[in-house]
Amino acid sequence: IQRSPEELTGDLNQPQAEAVRYAGPALLIGAGAGSGKTRVLTRRIAWILSQVGAWPSQILAITFTNKAAAEMKERLAALIGPVADRMWVSTFHSACVRILRRDGEGVGLKNGFSIYDTADCERLIKLIGQDLNVDVKKFTPRSILSRISDYKNSLVDWKTQLAAFAPDYKPGQRGYRFGRIDNIEELYAVMYAEYQYRLAMANAVDFDDLIFKTVELLRTQPDVAAYYRHKFRFILVDEYQDTNHAQYILIRELAGVDDPAGPSAAVTVVGDSDQSIYAFRGADIRNIQDFEQDFPNARTIMLEQNYRSTQTILDAANAVITHNEGRKPKKLWTALGKGEKITGYAADNAALEAHWIAGEITRLHAEEGVRYSDIAIMYRANAQSRSLEEGLIKAGVPYQLVGGTRFYERREVKDAIAYLQAIVNPADNVNMRRILNVPKRGLGARAESMVAMAAESHNTTFWDALDHLEQIEGMTARTANPLSRFRDLMNSLRQFAAANDAHPSRIVAQVLHESGLLEELQKSDDPQDASRVENLSQLQSVAAEYEQHNPDGTLSGFLETTALVADSDQLPGADEDSGKVTLMTLHTAKGLEYPVVFLTGMEQGTFPHSRAMEDEKELSEERRLAYVGITRAKRHLYVTRAALRAQWGQANEMLPSQFLDEIPDELIDWKRRETGMERMRSGWRDDDEFGGWGDDDDEFGGFSFGGSTFGSAAPRTASHSSYGGSSYGSSRGSSSYGSSYGSSH
Ligand code: ATP
Ligand code: MG
Repeated sequence: IQRSPEELTGDLNQPQAEAVRYAGPALLIGAGAGSGKTRVLTRRIAWILSQVGAWPSQILAITFTNKAAAEMKERLAALIGPVADRMWVSTFHSACVRILRRDGEGVGLKNGFSIYDTADCERLIKLIGQDLNVDVKKFTPRSILSRISDYKNSLVDWKTQLAAFAPDYKPGQRGYRFGRIDNIEELYAVMYAEYQYRLAMANAVDFDDLIFKTVELLRTQPDVAAYYRHKFRFILVDEYQDTNHAQYILIRELAGVDDPAGPSAAVTVVGDSDQSIYAFRGADIRNIQDFEQDFPNARTIMLEQNYRSTQTILDAANAVITHNEGRKPKKLWTALGKGEKITGYAADNAALEAHWIAGEITRLHAEEGVRYSDIAIMYRANAQSRSLEEGLIKAGVPYQLVGGTRFYERREVKDAIAYLQAIVNPADNVNMRRILNVPKRGLGARAESMVAMAAESHNTTFWDALDHLEQIEGMTARTANPLSRFRDLMNSLRQFAAANDAHPSRIVAQVLHESGLLEELQKSDDPQDASRVENLSQLQSVAAEYEQHNPDGTLSGFLETTALVADSDQLPGADEDSGKVTLMTLHTAKGLEYPVVFLTGMEQGTFPHSRAMEDEKELSEERRLAYVGITRAKRHLYVTRAALRAQWGQANEMLPSQFLDEIPDELIDWKRRETGMERMRSGWRDDDEFGGWGDDDDEFGGFSFGGSTFGSAAPRTASHSSYGGSSYGSSRGSSSYGSSYGSSH
């Protein structure tokens, strides 16, 4: 479809249109939330295709989630037709998988390499820990993996670490003696080296490797680098503020920025440094801050008009984010008017917070006709969802949770996938060992370790050793027989897979039946196993669906899609009415928008998270997260908190979040400002008034007196029209109290 310039930019504002049309080598669209960055990026691609005349294959567009990629493709298809299909629109990880599938041999990856998820990686770390006599309980697999991840995100390779901290260690070596037990760097270096060694043996990579190895590939294989530099003429990246160093270098390499012949691709990045919230995964805010220095002849375009939110919501967001130091002030305005005030509510505990939210949602739905799917409830940590879910269930509000235990993390699904993985990639030791005795075939740890040791002494894979079972010494028939049946099973499945490669769903079905996975669950009378059976049938449906969408798909292609699934992929599409309220963490909410947003758990220690409260840098990151949360709301924002919240099985008293304090008072209409305990502290003694635990919220909705919530003896007056004391200790106007106050008096 040909689109005229007018069609592509007519409904954009001036700087937006300019960004769409920009023709130079490097462009940063830096702007606050909801200013149309993602929209402009999409339009710009349409422009490049229909006005500049580029081919779809010359464009690489990077989004932060698979979901966002799918949405961008849809929008592009609507704008310019089906050519969008031939374009690379994906996350960093998916793009790298694609590159490595084609050219991974240059960095030692063979066809069909496995992608390990977190659980696989932890398993591998545990195995290594056992072999090296490292107490992985003391140094948790998680902490070791997180360090390894840091190395990879900053492109530090294991050889460098080994040379610096454990020069005598050779990967694959046994009986290594650590120099000093408290030398943690040595431990990390050895674990990193060994981990990479084992991954290489298993023809496997972890998520961070996808980026790391692609960079390595581009840096060490000039012909491969030349191929991609010739191929991609336009590289566009959304959410650039959350790229890490490795991703930054990847873009540089792909665009040939340091190529003596000059850059080969024009780079467009969009982002908002105030929304950088992934530092814990290595995101480096400097990438966006230094863009103009990093990319020659770069141009920056700022967008200032927000199209998403009301002025009230923007004012709140701006007020919060200005508390961060060292940021460039940004202008952000909206033509949408002031809109409704933010609604605040302080509950006595988390259950009552959920109860109130559920009641309010029911009201919105019944009285104001708000669709459930237009409402999102956000929280800082996954654990908070439990009480919220219970509240919604009790009130009969349909909801969907994004996150939690994912489908592909469920045990039975992982078992089935492990089979598929082991079929595609027999070298995959972790998955091969996982299924050795699943379903139970009488093979214990001893049998496993005999094979593992044989593999090690012959410097080969677990499968290879198993394949030469007869040569393993000292094996009794009781061990050898089931092992050899397992070998036969795997051989037979591999044959089946080879003959049916174009039909992943058939292979899934075959695996489920022939392995006995399904039978074991079907025979069980554990009710949980019934739902496990359903999950397996679901897996087969997913494979069938994959086949439909990818007529040339293969089993390893299918496995890729399952490996790269993220929380955000469970979200319904933007225009879809799911009929359900969405629950998710603030991190998952990035880039999304909802007419009504509840920001819950606004308490010191919950949000900001307790870990962040002492550290200025981390506190700034939490504040950016608050900024992200507030700016998800289009029309109506709610902020809620609880005075008591259970942590580690204990009810803790929670103070209001400092972020609440940072929102100007006149923007919030508190339905209930102080909790029962707080009122009692500040001298309120009317049992009648605070006895009502939550059946009719309006009754005590207006109890927000001006007495300091922190229990200081600020003077209060009995009259609700004049609040003498300041709440939260700061002195602000308080015009909007007591709307429902009168009813209980
Ligand atoms: P975030 O920082 O949260 O990622 P963003 O800057 O990417 O936000 P978008 O999601 O692209 O912003 O846009 C926010 C909303 O404003 C969307 O609903 C979008 O369709 C709308 N919008 C953006 N620009 C315009 C415009 N010129 N006219 C009308 N609506 C617009
Ligand atoms: Mg966006």
